[in-house]
Amino acid sequence: MYRTPNLEAKLELLMSLAGDDREGLPTRQLPPRLKHANDVGALRPLNLRPVRIGNAARTTLMRILMTNACSFNCHYCPMRRDRDMPRTLLKPAELVRIFLAAVARDWCTGLFITTGIPGRPVKVMDDLIEVLALLREHHNFAGYIHVKMIPGAQEAQIERLTSLATRVSLNLEAPCGDSLARIAPEKDLSRTLVSLERVRSRVNERRSEEREGRPRDALHPGGTAGMTMQFVVGATPDTDRTILGKMSQLYAGHGIHHTHFAAFRPIRDTPLENVRATPAVREQRLYQTDYLLRDYGFESHEVVFDADGNLPLAHDPKTAWALAHPEFFPLEVRTASREQLLRVPGIGPASARRIVVERSTTQARGLADLRAMGVVTTRAAGFLTLGGRPLQSVRWSEQLGFWRPDEEVGAYHLLYDVSPGTFR
Ligand code: SF4
Repeated sequence: MYRTPNLEAKLELLMSLAGDDREGLPTRQLPPRLKHANDVGALRPLNLRPVRIGNAARTTLMRILMTNACSFNCHYCPMRRDRDMPRTLLKPAELVRIFLAAVARDWCTGLFITTGIPGRPVKVMDDLIEVLALLREHHNFAGYIHVKMIPGAQEAQIERLTSLATRVSLNLEAPCGDSLARIAPEKDLSRTLVSLERVRSRVNERRSEEREGRPRDALHPGGTAGMTMQFVVGATPDTDRTILGKMSQLYAGHGIHHTHFAAFRPIRDTPLENVRATPAVREQRLYQTDYLLRDYGFESHEVVFDADGNLPLAHDPKTAWALAHPEFFPLEVRTASREQLLRVPGIGPASARRIVVERSTTQARGLADLRAMGVVTTRAAGFLTLGGRPLQSVRWSEQLGFWRPDEEVGAYHLLYDVSPGTFR
């Protein structure tokens, strides 16, 4: 039952229950109506976060939860049906009004919308579609809209929502159906994947039309920013190898921009409250590996796993690869290709490009020159030579050998009232 009588009270309630899911705090002060947003350390149904969409300038995104009510009973979720908590919802017209008021005040330029699923998924999808249709076709809002697709959507609804959104995302939660059934008995991975394929085909189709000259329709962008998908990490026994394997398999069909990983946190009053939290560093290692696969030219078979099939926690995945391939190093800065440089810890796509471009006109003479080109020399130096001379005899990875995050894993058991992940 929805208890709040007016819009201000609804927002107040949603915000007081909200959690912090940002991967970086907003630097500017929140507007007065969001004054409680910084008081709580949990899921924030409405927050503002700057993101960069493709090559465009930074977009400040309003991230908003349409409702925290849900008929599903996912074991890891603070909003699950059986959990006692105040519930409320925003109607489509209310949500649109809040967002457009925020845009008019210059607080944000884009929208991220997600929701619990109270009652029939088809009705919730209708409400999501109504939000987007009002914004696009009634108010002519041509900016960025990212919408989270819910399980149980109908084919025509998926098509319509995708046509109106800049980006569509789907929560897979787990990489295989059996493990999903353990944490979300009412969800069906195979059905979610059918939805994913339907969105993907629309995105790929629209992209291909635009490549062939069809003009962009800002009010019906067709999800062309690319999909995202999400996994809850550590709530099931699935290894990083299994999760990344599923991710790579899905990337192969194109149309997916990137993946989100949400480290599991045990939520008070849920069936998983006694399960240990997944260390945040595991989530970070998965993100780093995703970057290697998408931006650094690594193939999935090159990723280094430990004996259990997980990414090593003590080293980032590129360092783990470098340590496993001593035959590749040291690399000579003056002759290495861009692709080779990208294999060096501490050298990213921008610094690799700068090294290759600038060495044709100027010769780097030492660490300071490399630092000026964006190289993180504390990490890279041990893997490089310059003019045949090693830049450093001890590698950064060896200097950090005393720190073993693996030993800290599971040392403490913290319970949470809210969880990150809902807004990814
Ligand atoms: S994960 Fe989503 S569907 Fe599951 S209980 Fe939470 S809000 Fe509902």
